[in-house]
Amino acid sequence: MLVFKFGGASVKSANAVRNIVNILQRYDEKIVIVISAMGKTTNALERIIEHYFNRDGEQIKEEFRLLEAYHLEIIEGLIPEKGSKIYVDIQEVFEGLADRLAEEPSLNYDFDYDQIICFGEILSTKIVSHYLNHAGLKSKWLDVRKSLKTDDTYREGRINWELSRELTTLNFAFNGERFLVTQGFLASNSSNMTVSLGREGSDYTASILAHILKAENVTIWKDVPGVLNADPKYFDDTILLEKISYLDAIELAYYGTSVIHPKTIKPLQNKNINLFVRSFVDPDAAGTLIGNLEYESLVPSFIFKMDQVLIRISPHDFSFIAEDNLEIIYGILHKHGLKINLQQATAVSYQVVVNNDKRKVRLVVDELEQHFKVSYETGLELVTIRYFDDQTIRRVMVNKTLLLEQRGVQNIQLLVRDLGS
Ligand code: ASP
Ligand code: MG
Repeated sequence: MLVFKFGGASVKSANAVRNIVNILQRYDEKIVIVISAMGKTTNALERIIEHYFNRDGEQIKEEFRLLEAYHLEIIEGLIPEKGSKIYVDIQEVFEGLADRLAEEPSLNYDFDYDQIICFGEILSTKIVSHYLNHAGLKSKWLDVRKSLKTDDTYREGRINWELSRELTTLNFAFNGERFLVTQGFLASNSSNMTVSLGREGSDYTASILAHILKAENVTIWKDVPGVLNADPKYFDDTILLEKISYLDAIELAYYGTSVIHPKTIKPLQNKNINLFVRSFVDPDAAGTLIGNLEYESLVPSFIFKMDQVLIRISPHDFSFIAEDNLEIIYGILHKHGLKINLQQATAVSYQVVVNNDKRKVRLVVDELEQHFKVSYETGLELVTIRYFDDQTIRRVMVNKTLLLEQRGVQNIQLLVRDLGS
């Protein structure tokens, strides 16, 4: 049994979905198919959630209309027969979303977020599953929330492995069909409320299912040839990494390589399951293999995080930055779910680099100011180089000024300001 994950770009249009059938036809194995929301649907739902909290009914209506039109266009491109059950099914899902949006927002933003964000994956999987059957590929649709169980951490559920193992083994059974189609990114808690696994979490879903179901291997199908040593958006002459060890993959993902979700590797590594990252545009190409591999070192990889904020914190009374102060700082960051990308402490000041999530940054700064002197700087870039040397550092420092640097044996992190901006 294999696990395939198809991300948003691989299901963004009727043609893209048809291409999935072409890929599946190349295989004889049973396949568990994990799918993300179509195209930019999750972003659209996030906008709807914002409007929902602002009680902006007009904006909700407009976004809702666009979302419905987008999905309908894909369905019409795939299954033109208007009598097909897919139309009834999808209408029901949209009615469910409308009903949810008609409810009053609760006081728990993250809870409401998850109850609304889940519609993207429900829609995409229903459409793909219907289409596979329509194209003669016998498939069954499964609601992954009945199998993957988490704690109550909305928007970043932590998997309850024992319960998930039991339910997944029971539910993910092939009965005459060769394909099981299910949602990435979603799970549920003990009260059966939807809990999402964090943005881009579908890779993680694929890896959890592969671990539990003891898959032969996992393939993440992407619109890039595999894992590159840098994001081509920011870098010329990128190199495809053909083979990556689990450890290097974890490091690269941790520092922000956008191709793999950081939590994806561990469940696979535990069971020695290979992960392939391959192009759905060029399914003949080998892509990248991540597994239990050995080599001296990899070509240098460059990871860019844009739009970073540097927060500088110092005690009012010139006291040392020690465990007591750090405990307060970490507590505040953790409470508002702001993740540390880089940190540095001196005797009397502490600096931390985070993503520019405006809402969270505001909350964190406000609360820090109750205890410390705080200032912050926005518009920065954080560059991590794995397997760095002088030449690679020079390469990324062109036209930049350095604000912070952290050097390890294999990695260096540079917080810079682009002089062009
Ligand atoms: N649809 C979700 C997102 O865009 C999950 C995923 O794509 O992995 O974040
Ligand atoms: Mg995605």
